[in-house]
Amino acid sequence: MRHEAGTATKTTCPYCGVGCGIIATPRPNGSVSIEGDPEHPANFGRLCSKGSALAETLGTDERLLYPQIGGRRAAWDEALDLVADRFSAAIAEHGPDSVAFYVSGQLLTEDYYVANKLMKGFIGSANIDTNSRLCMASSVAGHRRAFGSDTVPGIYEDLELADLVVLVGSNLAWCHPVLYQRLAAAKEKRPEMKVVLIDPRRTMTADLADLHLAIAPDGDGVLFAGLLLYLANSDAIANGYIEQHTNGFKQALDAARGLDIARVAQETGLPAQQVEAFYRLFAARERTVTVYSQGVNQSALGTDKVNAIINCHLATGRIGRPGMGPFSVTGQPNAMGGREVGGLANMLAAHMDLENAAHRALVQRFWRSPRMADRPGLKAVEMFKAVADGRIRALWIMATNPVDSLPDADAVAAALRDCPFVVVSDIASATDTLRHAHVTLPSAGWGEKDGTVTNSERRISRQRAFLQPPGEARPDWWQIAQVAQRMGFADAFSYAGPADIFREHAALSACENEGTRDFDIGLHAGIEAADYAMMRPFQWPAREGEEVSRLFAAGGFYTPDRRARFVAVSPRRRQVCDTRYPMVLNTGRVRDHWHTMTRTGKSARLSAHLAEPYGELHPADAQRLGVGEAEIVHVESPHGAVLVRALVSPRQQQGSIFVPMHWTDQFCARGRVDALVPALTDPVSGQPALKNVAVRFSRF
Ligand code: SF4
Repeated sequence: MRHEAGTATKTTCPYCGVGCGIIATPRPNGSVSIEGDPEHPANFGRLCSKGSALAETLGTDERLLYPQIGGRRAAWDEALDLVADRFSAAIAEHGPDSVAFYVSGQLLTEDYYVANKLMKGFIGSANIDTNSRLCMASSVAGHRRAFGSDTVPGIYEDLELADLVVLVGSNLAWCHPVLYQRLAAAKEKRPEMKVVLIDPRRTMTADLADLHLAIAPDGDGVLFAGLLLYLANSDAIANGYIEQHTNGFKQALDAARGLDIARVAQETGLPAQQVEAFYRLFAARERTVTVYSQGVNQSALGTDKVNAIINCHLATGRIGRPGMGPFSVTGQPNAMGGREVGGLANMLAAHMDLENAAHRALVQRFWRSPRMADRPGLKAVEMFKAVADGRIRALWIMATNPVDSLPDADAVAAALRDCPFVVVSDIASATDTLRHAHVTLPSAGWGEKDGTVTNSERRISRQRAFLQPPGEARPDWWQIAQVAQRMGFADAFSYAGPADIFREHAALSACENEGTRDFDIGLHAGIEAADYAMMRPFQWPAREGEEVSRLFAAGGFYTPDRRARFVAVSPRRRQVCDTRYPMVLNTGRVRDHWHTMTRTGKSARLSAHLAEPYGELHPADAQRLGVGEAEIVHVESPHGAVLVRALVSPRQQQGSIFVPMHWTDQFCARGRVDALVPALTDPVSGQPALKNVAVRFSRF
């Protein structure tokens, strides 16, 4: 239902992983007032351009309004029956691993929970993966290798309390703007605070930095491995913490041998004085936070880079104390919530381990499930390869647009074209993925659905509905539960609403958990619908009588011996160019758009910032190739090509080009930059390398 005009609803922003609180108030004229929630601990009332413009994206234009089968309007019952029948038939004929779900960090935790439960516990396959694989899978893998669990140790306040904030592969100013605002305000108050940015590009974030290291692409693993050696040689390590709470320090140090400052400078393309200046700062400042994001994660070396960073914090004991810690900031609003319910192909619900027989048995008992997946499923890139070669016969895509966002995107489109049965649940009526759907299901969007999301500091907040879903749109959890019931699992999927699902999720997190697993929200295991409706933002772990904000200051890791593990990484920079493709392509976000623009593309104000796909290149490259400002550039890799408008800027490194990820064929012919990116992934995490791609470009 639509709330009465003038009724304020507290909810959470649907864009980035900062997870800002919002107060939405419908007006009598049908528009909606959007304000930052001054009481929300993520933003204290602040909003960025995207959050502020949310009201402009709420119209029913370009919305999917009713189910369709083969392009014709269908009743919900008919569409749901067909989905259940086709999935059941594929499973009966080809086995559980012949079907898959590809879901999204845009889903609410309750949607994610139901999808994961159906696939892993009732279909009996782990073929459920998410676009979060493109965002933070290397952080997950790095956390699990080091801590034994996927735990972010710190909180946002640490960025304000630190004496040194190191930003690695993060354009915080554009991609996590409110966190950037908090950092900028703290630095203004305490000018002695230092900020170091490590990024090949001189992004807007560099304007806040005391030191910008314009590192060669994929050089950051070497930089941090060298830092570990420097810290040891400078007597800047915390011997007590290492001895009491960790294993493997010596091996990690051995792996870094030889990475002195000169060698690091050579490998990273940085002046030796800059490397030394950074190392000195890090060694000298106890209160240090290292924030890292997609420049670290979206790499074929991503997990090693994450562990190279964590190693330095473990070695100095700078973890889980005020103003200290390694800090992964996630791209999406609910990448963390998805991880918590096990929405990755290699994880189980409630941060349990799919490859742990005791965990599998526990979850199976709890769900009373007929068959449990007993081995990891296909991760995102592999999943679409399996669609292409016919191993996947039925695929359900929810709240994401893989034809634009996955690497080797043209191959993804071809795979879907040939797949026997594709279901797409979405809010938008026209995406490049929807074209390949046999069945389309209209989903409720932000402001129309209820549930929870988790932000980058482990804070769970409510998203609340204040609008009526248009047409026949329904929440994703409802769609999945309806299909599950039709597949014969009525008892396990008869939820009355999201409060039921959250209660079950909370109870599972606390089941046989005496502090041996990190994710525990047992405090809410018996929550009533009325309390769920009023639930305030809180951080996990949330057990009865216990408030935990930061973790690991006194050890207590989630490994079998409760000690953290140093990982012996000896990363080398990955050089991708050759004589045919001599330039480097880097992809990423812009300030005012989100993913493939199905929402932000509706706001004229947001589109005014950067109106079309562009390629940012250095003046020397522009001159050499005869490319003038605003001329069209043809960018090409062995996998595909795009046309973009030249933006000539000294902020870009020579020999490289930056192209945003947002534009699609829907908005601009030949604008899908992920068509250029090879399907190359990190060997540990399966996260694709979206940022260091060999290309050539020329004037069009
Ligand atoms: Fe939304 Fe992120 Fe902006 Fe906050 S910083 S308003 S969560 S997009």
